[in-house]
Amino acid sequence: MSERSSAVAVGNVVFGDGGFALVGGPCSIESRTQIDASAQAVARAGGAALRGGAYKPRTSPYDFQGLGDEALPLIAQAGKRHGLPIVVEALAEAHVELVAAYADMLQIGARNMQNVPLLRAAARTGRPILLKRGPAATLDELLLAAEYILVEGNPSVVLCERGIRSFDAHTRNVCDLGGALRLRELTHLPVVLDPSHASGRRSLVEPLTLAAAAAGLDGALVEVHPDPSVALSDAAQQIDGAAFVRLAERVRRVRRALATDEVLVA
Ligand code: PEP
Ligand code: MN
Repeated sequence: MSERSSAVAVGNVVFGDGGFALVGGPCSIESRTQIDASAQAVARAGGAALRGGAYKPRTSPYDFQGLGDEALPLIAQAGKRHGLPIVVEALAEAHVELVAAYADMLQIGARNMQNVPLLRAAARTGRPILLKRGPAATLDELLLAAEYILVEGNPSVVLCERGIRSFDAHTRNVCDLGGALRLRELTHLPVVLDPSHASGRRSLVEPLTLAAAAAGLDGALVEVHPDPSVALSDAAQQIDGAAFVRLAERVRRVRRALATDEVLVA
């Protein structure tokens, strides 16, 4: 769990400084009260940042597509109120400027990993970028997608493993923890895990996050909703606030258990 050569600062939080940055928040921002309750839980857990989607890249056009522009002030206010930097996905080039005006970090989603004009536009905002691995992307393709951001002069990229497509349907995707660890050998950029999309099942979110923390990844991105049973997107994989608080405590315990005298545990 050593310090990375390219730590990425987002507000007061640093990805890749030897700590484990636990980012939480709902799949979709649904209302002022919903995002505020999510933020409250993330803050109570000692989480690093609040993440929520305003524009959702849903598989079906008939599913909830997100509140769009009107979600941005809601998450910005919740972040401010609870002292958390915020992370929001820019789904298209047209969103980049507005999202960057509100968010401390821009997410590029899995489906857009190789959307070159979007990568370049997001990079040029100067905001740190959370770049998710495409569901069928190789590690080299992910690293080259990150290069598109770096060559625009933006060095602040965090890579996110969110599961890759395979043949078994019992998990939504296959959580490529080995691939995420291999990335840490290949690049100086911080690497985090999204256990929510990687598994699609709330029962697996905590154990996968603990595995990521034990293995020395730089953080996790967890979907947290005040009442997952009524979530408008990804209901099966979101955990509630109490579960997130417990998860954060267990991450701390895992890190303490594995710490040596030389390692400063957050
Ligand atoms: C999300 O983060 O809610 C999301 C849609 O993730 P992904 O791009 O990994 O599918
Ligand atoms: Mn989601």
